Amino acid sequence: MLVDSHCHLNYPEFQEDFSAMIARAKTLGIQRFLTISTELSKVQEVIKIAEGTPEIFCTVGVHPHEVEKEGPPAIQALLTLTHHPKVVGIGETGLDYYYDHSPRDAQKLSFRNHIRVAKETGLPLIIHSRNAEEDILAILREEKIQDMEKPGVIHCFTGTKEFALACMDMGFYISASGIVTFPKALDLQETIKTHVPLSRLLVETDAPYLAPVPHRGKRNEPSFVVHTAEKVAGLKGISLKEVEEQTTNNFFALFGKVKKDLP
Ligand SMILES: [Zn+2]
Repeated sequence: MLVDSHCHLNYPEFQEDFSAMIARAKTLGIQRFLTISTELSKVQEVIKIAEGTPEIFCTVGVHPHEVEKEGPPAIQALLTLTHHPKVVGIGETGLDYYYDHSPRDAQKLSFRNHIRVAKETGLPLIIHSRNAEEDILAILREEKIQDMEKPGVIHCFTGTKEFALACMDMGFYISASGIVTFPKALDLQETIKTHVPLSRLLVETDAPYLAPVPHRGKRNEPSFVVHTAEKVAGLKGISLKEVEEQTTNNFFALFGKVKKDLP
């Protein structure tokens, strides 16, 4: 079994062939999908998708890119949404100083609010980090993330080795996306190969973006997570089956609210 631990299934790119796309993924052994909120204004769409398919679970949060438009989410609003049985994580949140689509102060406030909800509920954080490693670590420390045993995942990891190690020290998992299959991603490949143990690794697509080789440049979809898992297996010199088993176990260990047995 494989899991796509991060995708955006409510995006319009999937409207036309949604059922066929999910069926394709299931045929390849992808048995759980975590669809990630980026806007609170569309969170009901996301929840509805999770309600519609037993294998799909979801998160609630506001992406750093959307903070300017949506405002930092109120803690209480997020808390209320977490009561839904299909809501299993908080995010995606974090800081993006590469695009700077939202003012940094607002991004930081939003990030803190998400962290507080994660701590209050015990649900893991989905963290997006781009050119903001120092501030991410500083805020996590200030918010006493160490109170959480499994605080979450650094999704679509593209950071430095030092950042990976610091995050894993805090208990975070590291998620590999299609970027790890790109020929020029040598530093990232080295980090995943040498510094992130299989016991801390998740795999994801971030679909519809960032399709892995050999689909690079096309619309990404959950079935393509196989290519990322294959690349990880190649880097680590182990079988695809081992990567599938361990990353799936990691997913269930981190997202304890995801049902192992489905109705
Ligand atoms: Zn995402």
